[in-house]
Amino acid sequence: MNTPASPSADLSPRDLELLRMTIALSEESKARGRHPFAALVANEHGEVVVSAGNNSMPPEGDPTQHAELVAAAQAARLLAPEALARCTLYTSAEPCCMCAGAIYWTNIGRVVYALSEHALLGLTGDHPENPTFSLPCREVFVRGQRPIEVIGPVLEDEAAAPHHGFWNHAR
Ligand SMILES: [Zn+2]
Repeated sequence: MNTPASPSADLSPRDLELLRMTIALSEESKARGRHPFAALVANEHGEVVVSAGNNSMPPEGDPTQHAELVAAAQAARLLAPEALARCTLYTSAEPCCMCAGAIYWTNIGRVVYALSEHALLGLTGDHPENPTFSLPCREVFVRGQRPIEVIGPVLEDEAAAPHHGFWNHAR
């Protein structure tokens, strides 16, 4: 039985590998001049279906192109809703309410995140490029009509590393 109080319950070694992959991708995103966020969607066998970095800065990107939203939307073009229900979205930072909405509407069944939105807020503060919400994704999902399993925060120190110095520097 799931124990929501324990953030790492039901976490497999492959879950950790895939989560670390998103942290590495968030570094790559930063190296490309984007914000240090990344996400991927994997199927029930732990095979990566799609991955995405953040691309929220106009003019090339747009403010809705958070990594999780891009990954969820791409996965939904590739897989049927029944298959998406057996997929997990892994993300270097907890989905915001916009991305939680996308996860809900694409029918993805499970979320594993590294950095909590609370910890992210501590890193970004009120930075104009990323005025982070203070709204846990579980609070969004619980208002929906289907259950979504959520695991996190996990590996918060590793996931925070790409953010250290970034938001102060960019300000
Ligand atoms: Zn988001």
